[in-house]
Amino acid sequence: MFSKVLIANRGEIALRILRACKELGVQTVAVHSTADADAMHVRLADESVCIGPPSATASYLNIPSIVSACEITGADAVHPGYGFLSENARFADILAAHGITFIGPTAEHIRLMGDKVQAKETAVSLGIPVVPGSKGAVADSAEAARIAAEIGYPVLIKAAAGGGGRGMKVANSAEDVERAFDTARSEARAAFGDDAMYVEKYLANPRHIEVQVMGDGEGRAVHLGERDCSLQRRHQKVWEEAPSPALNAAERQRIGKTVADAMSKLGYRGAGTVEFLYEDGEFYFIEMNTRLQVEHPVTEAITGIDLVAEQLRVAAGSPLSIRQEDVTFTGHAIECRINAENPETFAPSPGRITYYHPPGGLGLRVDSAVYQGYRVPPHYDSLIGKLIVHGRTRVECMMRLRRALDEFVVDGIETTLPLFRDLVSNPDIANGMYDIRWLEDFLAASRSSEKIA
Ligand code: ADP
Repeated sequence: MFSKVLIANRGEIALRILRACKELGVQTVAVHSTADADAMHVRLADESVCIGPPSATASYLNIPSIVSACEITGADAVHPGYGFLSENARFADILAAHGITFIGPTAEHIRLMGDKVQAKETAVSLGIPVVPGSKGAVADSAEAARIAAEIGYPVLIKAAAGGGGRGMKVANSAEDVERAFDTARSEARAAFGDDAMYVEKYLANPRHIEVQVMGDGEGRAVHLGERDCSLQRRHQKVWEEAPSPALNAAERQRIGKTVADAMSKLGYRGAGTVEFLYEDGEFYFIEMNTRLQVEHPVTEAITGIDLVAEQLRVAAGSPLSIRQEDVTFTGHAIECRINAENPETFAPSPGRITYYHPPGGLGLRVDSAVYQGYRVPPHYDSLIGKLIVHGRTRVECMMRLRRALDEFVVDGIETTLPLFRDLVSNPDIANGMYDIRWLEDFLAASRSSEKIA
């Protein structure tokens, strides 16, 4: 095992990683921007290093600063968390050149999956079902229109370098292709500095279902079941649950095995998530994330497996501590992402938390780095915490979530807690009857009913 791990992240995930390190007896180094000097991960780490000013580009994305922090503190490995440098292959290469272990997959696999066109080709070669569409990138809108005519409208024009739902546009007809293509391409150029585009069938009402995998890099891989992340706003996940209310045991087994076999063939190392759209009993690969995900605790809740500890073990060259036959799924778990945002307009709401009371009790986990008196800085993502509840059944889980939300108090800033109080008492959610369009429709309907009132 490593003797000292540097955590190249902030907020709740920095704390999550720190906790796993402590339980494994590993020393921790926190890095932080000047805006995060008072952050909880800085207070709880064994050592901390200031790596730059508030802007993420100058701090959490500043590779030379982070490598220097490793050298000053003698850290032998870096955990990148999610976001920031977690899917940056160049960062993994630079760390390797300095003899520091990147806790994640190989730089080659990060590159492969970071390019969605290559990722899709790889998925096909590994036997993973994909969304019908162009074979590789398309040169211009005329080629996009030709492919769209073959697969049928509507189609989605997507950026190979895409992420965070940016660089994608729907085209409903041949007349629409040029506009969609040009808009998506300029968005991709601005956001990613890469304008390679591809075309895919636009699925009308799918669910977003993803499979968690862990590989040892030597050809052994296990799947830890699926998560349903269909409740999204602007392609950003809001509520995640496991198991998916839409899958039966046979479907779960089939997609899990497909993914585990594929990752075993690839020789994948560490934690990864293969994302699918699911419609009418069929799975369609959309992308693979080569890192820990925000919603990993729902999988931990139903499997009892500490995914971060497992990442650390594999990165340190130990075998996986789990075999597929040992993985069992118990009960149901739901995660709510609590953002410092207005619950109706979703405008960011940074500022000082004047009162903070998290819920407690059986079957409940709050992953958050905030505390009473903490000032949420305006410079970063607005996620301030995650509420994860576990119950023996989905009904028990929903009842527990409802009472946990009643207990949760965050004053001084606005949060998305009221949105979750609405969702937990909604009949569609109670019945598990929702797809990736449901939340946007629900929000639009609440806005128009307010206008009428
Ligand atoms: P990103 O990396 O930007 O998150 P993804 O490929 O993971 O992009 O897609 C994000 C979301 O966009 C999906 O969860 C889904 O809601 C929607 N989406 C992506 N591809 C399709 C498709 N072919 N048809 C319908 N919706 C899609």
